[in-house]
Amino acid sequence: MSAPSDLALVPFISVEDMMRLVHKLGLRDMLAHLADAIEADFLRWESFDKTPRVASHSTDGVIELMPTSDGAQYAFKYVNGHPANLARGFQTVAAFGGLSRVDNGYPVLLSEMTLLTAMRTAATSAMAARALAPKNSKVMGMIGNGAQCEFQALAMAEVVGIEQVRLWDIDARATEKAMRNLSETSLEVIACKSAEEAIAGAQILTTCTADKQFATILSDNMVGAGVHLNAIGGDCPGKTELHRDVLYRSDIFVEFPPQTRIEGEIQQLEPDYPVTELWQVLAQQASGRTHTDQITLFDSVGFAIEDFSALKFVRSAALQQGTYSMLDLVADPDDPRDLFGMLGRAKFPRLLNTPI
Ligand code: NAD
Repeated sequence: MSAPSDLALVPFISVEDMMRLVHKLGLRDMLAHLADAIEADFLRWESFDKTPRVASHSTDGVIELMPTSDGAQYAFKYVNGHPANLARGFQTVAAFGGLSRVDNGYPVLLSEMTLLTAMRTAATSAMAARALAPKNSKVMGMIGNGAQCEFQALAMAEVVGIEQVRLWDIDARATEKAMRNLSETSLEVIACKSAEEAIAGAQILTTCTADKQFATILSDNMVGAGVHLNAIGGDCPGKTELHRDVLYRSDIFVEFPPQTRIEGEIQQLEPDYPVTELWQVLAQQASGRTHTDQITLFDSVGFAIEDFSALKFVRSAALQQGTYSMLDLVADPDDPRDLFGMLGRAKFPRLLNTPI
């Protein structure tokens, strides 16, 4: 890690900086780099501190903190999930987070993470599909065409080789938006009139809807043999997308079981129902797809190690590309014990005159 010389000043990647970075690197390349960075960290899974994220639930949504550390660096993300936000003109998911050094605890990055979450989620989906989906998958059905949709489609194109994306959303405006945004890419994009039409002929079925309820986006009769399911939207207690019977027909792959059992599709199953940890498939310690009729399910909820990898990647890329500014974030008295003196020496009007 290259540390800035002045530890009080912390690199900050604003939303504008993140957009400049993506434009400089190219979104498809960035998604591929993120998939590789996340996979590299999944391959050293055992070196990370892991805990289910800390969730604060309300009737409208959830606010979560996602920490992890590999012993050298520590990362955290603050993220919300508020399905009702869309109707109020706000995003369902918004996030920010940071990285710090474990040796002295000082932060080394603060970053926007709303865009970064969409990119790392898509990169993780593509990484999982690269390991689990049928070889030569070319068609993806994409149910839920909101904020995550285009990132998912492009990551699957870049990392897995998907050529056609079939879109369905209960709100036609969302599908129109995604059609428009994907129109200048290499993907063939088809707007469908139902979920059934969207998944027809697809080898990868992605569900990415937002509703705080046990929804049935895919019922058992909709899921044919041999497909790969990429279930993104069921990521909170009481919020799922797949009918339970689909789960019983699938081989289920998860990020961190203690978190997924609380938040993922498998919250519908018995607490000890067998699942496979994705990192073990990547590390060739467990089987992934073993036969053509097998239904593989990546029950994605989003795990802190993906944010750790993404933050490390964007820190290094932003420092190289100059897409950051420095934030005066850490109070830094010349004598580390004289925090009070530093405050007193700051000659702001009124402050010194205010009785303490
Ligand atoms: P969004 O609100 O922007 O989009 C959701 C879309 O789903 C909307 O267009 C809505 O009309 C559509 N929808 C709702 N119910 C539907 C149904 N029954 N059939 C078809 N379409 C339906 O949300 P987003 O930011 O795209 O996020 C989508 C989901 O992914 C959310 O639930 C979010 O919590 C989740 N998410 C998961 C991860 C992860 O790591 N697994 C990361 C980010 C977001």
